[in-house]
Amino acid sequence: MKNITLVIFTLALLGGLMPSLSSAAVTDYPFEKVAENTWIIHGPLEMPNVGNQGFMNNPGIVLTSEGAVIIDPGSSVQAGEMVLRMLKTVTDEPVVAVFNTHIHGDHWLGNQAIKAAYPDAPVYGHTEMLTMIEDGVGETWIELMDKLTEGATQGTRVVGPDHPLGNGDAIKIGNKTFRIHHYGQAHTRTDIMIEVAEDSVVFLGDNVTTNRIPRMSDGNFIGNIDSVDNILKLGATTWVPGHGKTGDADMVRGYRDYLAAVYASARQAFDEDLDSSDVKPIALKATVKYKDWAGYEGEIGPQGAQAYMEVEAAEF
Ligand SMILES: [Zn+2]
Repeated sequence: MKNITLVIFTLALLGGLMPSLSSAAVTDYPFEKVAENTWIIHGPLEMPNVGNQGFMNNPGIVLTSEGAVIIDPGSSVQAGEMVLRMLKTVTDEPVVAVFNTHIHGDHWLGNQAIKAAYPDAPVYGHTEMLTMIEDGVGETWIELMDKLTEGATQGTRVVGPDHPLGNGDAIKIGNKTFRIHHYGQAHTRTDIMIEVAEDSVVFLGDNVTTNRIPRMSDGNFIGNIDSVDNILKLGATTWVPGHGKTGDADMVRGYRDYLAAVYASARQAFDEDLDSSDVKPIALKATVKYKDWAGYEGEIGPQGAQAYMEVEAAEF
């Protein structure tokens, strides 16, 4: 009898673990309380790799009177499962909604785990994000994550947003209002910044990061700078970046100033009749205080060249 019980228990356990059986669970990272009703896991700052199993973003929880709202549940089904495990350390409330800040897979491939546990929870994302996923961009992200982590994210499937959003939308969930801000192409064409009005908290997505330079290849420098200038007008208390520690408005301005310095370097090179490849040495000087940020060395050259193209495009 005991043996049968053990066999049944083992089968049940295996069944429960099936989605991530091929890969190990993502290491637990604690949620930190950053404001009233708001907790963030501040993920590792490096790129997705074997060591971090692809997990490197900032998943958030907002606790409403109806239940928990999750923002950006991570880069894989395993990351999403970790977010759910850690949610239990904060609250026993169910997940009632998910928001995805943009199309980059490190922020939303964890939707799969949340939807598996809470099939009725709507997943919100910018309209353009839904379109890109229809066009197959999600599969590209799954392949990239699998490659960068050498298979640690295996079993992850595309579960994108099912509720499209745009600038000015306000989603009321229990006693909280989630106001959506989108000011055109910034870090990507799909960014939403989410203001939780009652608690003076703003989730910025990768429109703002700190201590990490994100890729800008889907973005636009002037658009991103304008978006940050617009969102700063809210005068919120707590600002949650897509990567790096939660902070105040100075943290937000710090990243804005980085983008502005890269763009000004490109403008200088253009005005001096230099080439796009000449932006890098100018930008290295202009952004020296960011040199220790993760990703800086790899990004500063390509970003300078990209900003140069934007200056050129603005001229003609
Ligand atoms: Zn991003």
